[in-house]
Amino acid sequence: MTAAVEQHAAPTPTPRDAATKRSVSPKRLVPPKPLASPPNPKSPPTLRVNEIFLSIQGESTHAGLPCTFVRLTGCHLRCHYCDTAYAFHEGDRITLDDIIARVKGFYLPKEPPRLVSPAPQSPTRLVEITGGEPLLQPNVHPLMTRLCDLGFTVLIETSGACDIGTCDPRVHRIMDLKTPGSGESHRNHWPNIEELNERDEVKFVLTSRGDYEWARAVIEKHSLAARVAAVLMSAVQETPAGADVAGVPPGRGLPLRDLAHWILDDHLPVRLQTQLHKLIWDPAARGV
Ligand code: SF4
Repeated sequence: MTAAVEQHAAPTPTPRDAATKRSVSPKRLVPPKPLASPPNPKSPPTLRVNEIFLSIQGESTHAGLPCTFVRLTGCHLRCHYCDTAYAFHEGDRITLDDIIARVKGFYLPKEPPRLVSPAPQSPTRLVEITGGEPLLQPNVHPLMTRLCDLGFTVLIETSGACDIGTCDPRVHRIMDLKTPGSGESHRNHWPNIEELNERDEVKFVLTSRGDYEWARAVIEKHSLAARVAAVLMSAVQETPAGADVAGVPPGRGLPLRDLAHWILDDHLPVRLQTQLHKLIWDPAARGV
């Protein structure tokens, strides 16, 4: 997706401007950072969107199901293994109406309508809001509520660094708890633990045995397995030599086999998961 460049046109200098400039120090001539435009209450609500696409859900208890993804722009974290750094800045501002229309477009029948039975509860009516960190944009909430009202099953994948308590209660929150190996564990918003319920899932992405032991202690301390639908554990992938995938140095990562042994040895009540979409398609591919 082409990056949207927010441009701020420089005003045409007037004679008065020139006089003013001569009277100030060079430091004052540094252009100030542009201020964000105040929201226009008459404008339709928008979100900055990196991409919208139909794929196979790859990382939760919904893994394997067709799912439309709405990837929002922006993240305030910088996990060492991040595989969606392209979503930090790239994106276009789109109205909620247009986002919903594009999501619905994936579910329009390709055959003549008379041959198709609408199935409101079909698993294909699954939508995941992801990022980046989708909770950074307040308009994500009316979007999720409208999608729920339309009968979609709505998932949100969040870093765990933002308050999840403001989400529509019908939304399934898939919340990371960042391990020390991510480099961002100090950003975990721990009060979120009290917000979790049986609709939600907690995910640990592990880089090492140390991360595993950290996660195990957190699971036990907060009785996580009893709070949520599933506790998920995945391993930062081993990557083939020469590959540049997921920010993981080639040949490094945590072998899934090791993680499987540790979970079995400890009888840990978690679900081991792979990144299914990366097994299906090129691990570096976007929009899948
Ligand atoms: S929270 Fe997610 S999007 Fe943000 S840096 Fe970490 S892995 Fe990347």
